[in-house]
Amino acid sequence: MQDDLDKITTRISQTVSCTEAEGPGNRYALWFQGCPLRCPSCCNPEYLSFQGGVLRSVSEILQEILEINSANKLTEKLTIEGITLLGGEPFAHSQFAAHLAREVQQHQLSVMVFTGYTRQQLEEQKDFWVDLLLTHTDILVDGPYLRDYPDTQRRWIGSTNQQIHFLTDRYAPDDPCWQKRNTLEIRLSAEGQLVVNGFPDPNLSSLWRGKFEGKIKK
Ligand code: SF4
Repeated sequence: MQDDLDKITTRISQTVSCTEAEGPGNRYALWFQGCPLRCPSCCNPEYLSFQGGVLRSVSEILQEILEINSANKLTEKLTIEGITLLGGEPFAHSQFAAHLAREVQQHQLSVMVFTGYTRQQLEEQKDFWVDLLLTHTDILVDGPYLRDYPDTQRRWIGSTNQQIHFLTDRYAPDDPCWQKRNTLEIRLSAEGQLVVNGFPDPNLSSLWRGKFEGKIKK
């Protein structure tokens, strides 16, 4: 099994090891490099190309995730309760994503996935890896991001057309965490690069993009 996970690779544009801005609790967030969709108001155009990013294996990413909690338990730092997969388009990397999701769930971590497809479109594909990723997803947020319909009510959700699907009973729609305000996190990476994730107030997004243009990975 370990050999198989070593061989399953894909291009990753960014990871954040512990964030509160991409789903319930503290989460490891992973952005895939490459998306076949073209939402008119794409929020991550730099992640559309299937070139670029860094080629990583499932085993490499899994080890990175599991080490966060084992290291932090020793130092009493925050632990993560799950992972969030974003894009790019996670379902365009479904073999990789399905393996990773299955592995982390076996370690009692939850899986949240943001997709530009609707759930119906995914189910109609009748694709083995797409179905396996859905099987190992606790929360699916589906539909394209539409800048003209910003969601100001639901935390972590970009636009009002997007639906939250609770595919397991691990999370519930009436959990107050969904009602809190969105958060934006800005970090300085070890390489000296500003890394931004989460959702800013729609009125401020152009401000921070302009101010830090050329220095930001979102
Ligand atoms: S699914 Fe995401 S990355 Fe792909 S075009 Fe839509 S907003 Fe952009």
